[in-house]
Amino acid sequence: MKITKIDLLYSQPVEDGWRPVFCRVHTDEGIYGDGEVALSFDDITHAAFGMMQDMAKLLIGMNPLEHEVIWDKLYHKTFFALNGGPVVFGAISAFDIACWDIKGKKYGAPLHELLGGKIRSELRCYASQLQNGWPDARKPCAVPDDYRAVAQTALDRGFDAVKLNFTTFRPDGVRYSKNDQAPYLKRDYLRVIEERVKAVRETLGPDGDIILENHCYTDKESAVQMGNAVKPYGIMYFEEPVAPHADLLAYVHKNTGIPVASGERMYSRWQFKERLDKEAIQVIQPDIGTCGGVTECKKICDMAYVYEAAVQIHVCGSPLMTAVSLNLESVLPHFIIHEYNVNTVMPKMLALTKIDYQPENGYFSVPDLPGIGNEISDEAFKTCEVVTVE
Ligand code: MG
Repeated sequence: MKITKIDLLYSQPVEDGWRPVFCRVHTDEGIYGDGEVALSFDDITHAAFGMMQDMAKLLIGMNPLEHEVIWDKLYHKTFFALNGGPVVFGAISAFDIACWDIKGKKYGAPLHELLGGKIRSELRCYASQLQNGWPDARKPCAVPDDYRAVAQTALDRGFDAVKLNFTTFRPDGVRYSKNDQAPYLKRDYLRVIEERVKAVRETLGPDGDIILENHCYTDKESAVQMGNAVKPYGIMYFEEPVAPHADLLAYVHKNTGIPVASGERMYSRWQFKERLDKEAIQVIQPDIGTCGGVTECKKICDMAYVYEAAVQIHVCGSPLMTAVSLNLESVLPHFIIHEYNVNTVMPKMLALTKIDYQPENGYFSVPDLPGIGNEISDEAFKTCEVVTVE
């Protein structure tokens, strides 16, 4: 089998500047595979699309079933991929996902079978990023009652776990500035955070799970202040309490005793290994669309198993990434919970793929279609900027 041409798709802005970037890899057997770069927001989308155009040329004529050969070529032939960041690894990821999609379609097998077989068919999930409003998307949570309301929405829809960033918005709904967040959280800010966490805990009851998101907003001392202030309310894990550096993450874990999660800004085995070696993260959160694709992510997850670190794949793309993530999570013995990101539920985003996977009663079913379980929609080919490399 040979790769004959590759379509690269750059979507129009779907909302808030989000612009998903996809690839479709065609073969001489008429089978094609789809992939996505999980860099669809915050001023990096052009770079992702450009990187893919540079890399696509290297793939023409190669056998897509040899995904390890392709991965190694992209990693070494693209000089700056070695120890690279999100842009190079994002492009490698998209092409790698497409190769696995082709393999699944060629052999009539879903990705989870190719990866060794699913341990579970239903995945528990949490409702993620609720501080931005739910069901009213992009309505900032300001006062504690807003936090109660989004947590209640989660309960009403069958979720028993939620993730919120309690440090994003001031009580008047305006974003906190960087100046408010480091190097020391003032007592009134800390009190605002604590009241919000308390409101969510009271709404969920004693058995609901709360994931504390921080998006690396604070420094390590502020993160420790915050973690210790809200620890009595029961925190499942503390996500990106600080920038994704091993020593900083380890410091927060050591000084709060709360499991620390990070990984959406880490790429490749080598970057995860350093954090695992230092006991810096107890829950790894690689994004299959940026860490190096299915090939790399499976290796990262297997490595984390040795360290007894749990896995929650970071999911923040189109439903294409949801399908890939569910497939991989279903085969992992140390899977902890799936991220259902309410931020990504945008009509124009959902229109970019053929299937809109949604959870029921807080659980996702694992796709059983051959390949990754989803495809770029015909609509996307009409609305996206398309560059074809052959
Ligand atoms: Mg996050």
